[in-house]
Amino acid sequence: MKKSVSIIGGGPAALILAALLDCNKFTVTVYEKNKTLGRKFLVAGKGGFNLTHSEPIGELIARYTPPHFLEKALLDFDNEDFRKWIDSIGIPTYIGSSKRVYPESGIKPITVLNAIMDVLNKQGVAIEYQHTWKGWTSNDTLVFNTDTTIKSDYTIFAMGGGSWKVTGSDGIWLDLFERENIPVVLFQSSNCAYRVAWPEDFILEHEGSPLKNIAISCLNKRQKGEAVITRFGLEGNAIYALSPQIREELERHQKAIISLDLKPTLRYEDLLDKIRKSTFKKTSETLLKEIKLSPAQIGLLKKYLSKETYLNSELLAQNIKRLNIEITGTALLNDAISTTGGIQLDAVDENFQLKNKKNNYCIGEMLDWDAPTGGYLLQACFSMGMHLARHLNSTA
Ligand SMILES: Cc1cc2nc3c(=O)[nH]c(=O)nc-3n(C[C@H](O)[C@H](O)[C@H](O)COP(=O)(O)OP(=O)(O)OC[C@H]3O[C@@H](n4cnc5c(N)ncnc54)[C@H](O)[C@@H]3O)c2cc1C
Repeated sequence: MKKSVSIIGGGPAALILAALLDCNKFTVTVYEKNKTLGRKFLVAGKGGFNLTHSEPIGELIARYTPPHFLEKALLDFDNEDFRKWIDSIGIPTYIGSSKRVYPESGIKPITVLNAIMDVLNKQGVAIEYQHTWKGWTSNDTLVFNTDTTIKSDYTIFAMGGGSWKVTGSDGIWLDLFERENIPVVLFQSSNCAYRVAWPEDFILEHEGSPLKNIAISCLNKRQKGEAVITRFGLEGNAIYALSPQIREELERHQKAIISLDLKPTLRYEDLLDKIRKSTFKKTSETLLKEIKLSPAQIGLLKKYLSKETYLNSELLAQNIKRLNIEITGTALLNDAISTTGGIQLDAVDENFQLKNKKNNYCIGEMLDWDAPTGGYLLQACFSMGMHLARHLNSTA
């Protein structure tokens, strides 16, 4: 007789799991609170829609915090495996100049979602919309808002993190797990804007300006990329990737110092040499025409350095390579691209089964791991879904 599987939540982690469970062994039902599936997946599609990242697997694994929690799942189903699988269901991908992986040009996010849905239909997966899971009864029966109660052989929770509540991922489930003595951690913003108290005259002039081809460091981590100056502070891929380090510093000191390298392509000695040999009379002209800094970068140096430092070639070069900026907070949870927190990692075993609730599993962003944007978040969700599908297919 087939075993029953209830999957709670209909995001990417749930969908790939449902698509890959053996339909000869399981009857699978997805319970989703919304009227449609994959709303956050479609939101992700409005921006860059990085389905995964093409880095070699060792480098890819190193992007995750903590580093080893997802290793097995990522090795089991890596970025190349994902590209082959999504191609096999009619969605070819390409690697962009940033090494991120996108659906081929002209393929819309909804087309990608529909291709996965087609697999679910062929597999005979049932979908119950507008079913919000509300908790367990004393004998581990699932309770929904519709007064439906379900007892299944396996339950997989894939209810997402705590940001962009409009997509359905509201994190309200945290209390329900805590009541069952399942260790949880409060959600925190990740891959989000960080607050900087810009001087008013600086932000009036430079709000919206990008800082291109820079590198940002915090603690032991350095990330090349781009950031945008906003009234709130700084956002963009170069600072998103430092989220774990910035959070650590904010927790410890209520502030985090990040260092901007405004010219990562030039070594300090070469930079100093260029400044010294410049024939331009004004320092600002040297920075603009010789060093090729943008007006916003020059504005930053002028605002953050004393006149003496700005006019001293050595100190100026040092600060171009290492300009310290103070971060005083993060964006609101709801505005973050992703969240950390949720189910504590030591609450689950190597197959994501809850240690104190046999045959109940958690996958996707609802677990307390972190990764930068750029395809890593979705890859982790797909890898966890695939890993669990293989585990259940082989054990049931
Ligand atoms: C603006 C934005 C851009 C992004 N861009 C990218 C990108 O380019 N690349 C990348 O890798 N990642 C990106 N992400 C992150 C990525 O979309 C998420 O990490 C991913 O969707 C998480 O998948 P998940 O399956 O864990 O959960 P989710 O996608 O959050 O899905 C969870 C589902 O569970 C449902 N649910 C919640 N509670 C209940 C309940 N009680 N009962 C029933 N159903 C429930 C929700 O309605 C939702 O449908 C982006 C995110 C945002 C917000």
